Amino acid sequence: MADFGAADADAFRAELRTWLEANYPAELKEPKPKTDPEATWGGRAFAGSDDPQIRWMRKAAEKGLTAPTWPTQYGGGGLKADQARIVEQELSRYRAPLASFGIWMLGPVLLEYGNDAQKAEHLPRITRGEIRWCQGYSEPGAGSDLAGLQTRCEDKGDHWLINGQKIWTSYANKADWCFCLVRTDTTKKHEGISFVLIDMKTPGVETRPIQLISGESPFCETFFTDVKIPKANMVGKLNGGWEIAKRLLQYERQNISGGFGGGGGAGGAAGDLAQIAKGYVGVDATGALDDADLRGRITRNKMDFQSFYLTLSRVAAESRASNGPSAATSIIKYAAATLAQERSELMVESMGAQGLGWEGEGFTPAELTATHGWLRSKGNSIEGGTSEVNLNVVSKRVLGLPDPK
Ligand SMILES: Cc1cc2nc3c(=O)[nH]c(=O)nc-3n(C[C@H](O)[C@H](O)[C@H](O)COP(=O)(O)OP(=O)(O)OC[C@H]3O[C@@H](n4cnc5c(N)ncnc54)[C@H](O)[C@@H]3O)c2cc1C
Repeated sequence: MADFGAADADAFRAELRTWLEANYPAELKEPKPKTDPEATWGGRAFAGSDDPQIRWMRKAAEKGLTAPTWPTQYGGGGLKADQARIVEQELSRYRAPLASFGIWMLGPVLLEYGNDAQKAEHLPRITRGEIRWCQGYSEPGAGSDLAGLQTRCEDKGDHWLINGQKIWTSYANKADWCFCLVRTDTTKKHEGISFVLIDMKTPGVETRPIQLISGESPFCETFFTDVKIPKANMVGKLNGGWEIAKRLLQYERQNISGGFGGGGGAGGAAGDLAQIAKGYVGVDATGALDDADLRGRITRNKMDFQSFYLTLSRVAAESRASNGPSAATSIIKYAAATLAQERSELMVESMGAQGLGWEGEGFTPAELTATHGWLRSKGNSIEGGTSEVNLNVVSKRVLGLPDPK
């Protein structure tokens, strides 16, 4: 993207638009009712597959679009915040997001806390979508109270030895690597945690998929039994992982929120919802949805989503222009989860009995997608930190309120 560096905003946007028009795969322009779970990663493509989405990701990476603000030496676009915002705006006109756990979460913290060797090894592959990452944070006894994690990591001289169990590890069975929180000091809580990178092919790593209410198995139990990893795989300082963990959660909460609500920008999705509802419920003499109560709730959801996306875009721009995201990302995450769940409810309610199908010829693919999406949306207020925990973060760290007596 060096050729864009000196251009002014309009010229930059025009050139980018021309490039996207010429290079964005035609087959991705039409949204599919249901993506192939083997080929995609929660709407994002697996590396190594011939899915058009991953081909698009590779192409976009050549242009530096997958990580616009990262340095060019690590495969990023080397762009300034205002240019990256234009990239984001132009990409949002297309439906397939350029996203992965590596781009959303690990990459930004590696840039901040990783050493030169770690950045050189992992960042370029992240930008090209070659490595699938999973997040080893939650444990059976440590979810909201994440700092209570028990997975042990012992110093064995020339390597680290890891034993323990993670849970709810999204796509662990498909992942190449895991960024993982481990306990390196059992005498302290927060100050006894370190942040390590684990190659999922290492002997002793085992994953067992967990089936969800929606019928999919997007996450796993992950077991580590005498797993040896190189000393070089620790990011940051020994026992300094909690700071990195919290930073990564801020990136996660900011980015995850943009993905809720049906993709492609929820303003558009909510617009679709009004049209869909008209098809099922009918219209009155003025052409408006023939159910005043439902119409009011759909309109409110659409307006709330429009405001939310404007706020998200502003917060993302502020974060790019400053020192990255802040605790305020908990506001974004909470709002996104609430609005996405509300929208899913409105969708199935609009469809009536047709919105409650599980399988079979009596339902269209769009209706089945709506039912599965409604069930999947239940997780929106849990993943990346529950809504209750995010409200706690907002009250303590954003509003500065004291703990309840
Ligand atoms: C779709 C999905 C994908 C996920 N992917 C991953 C992943 O890839 N990697 C990973 O590590 N984890 C992942 N998770 C796990 C997720 O981060 C945890 O489920 C979440 O942090 C909550 O932890 P828990 O399930 O242990 O619930 P708990 O912490 O046991 O919470 C149970 C309930 O108690 C409430 N609660 C707990 N503490 C408080 C408090 N202090 N104040 C108020 N209420 C409280 C919670 O809000 C919740 O309602 C995923 C979860 C989902 C649903």
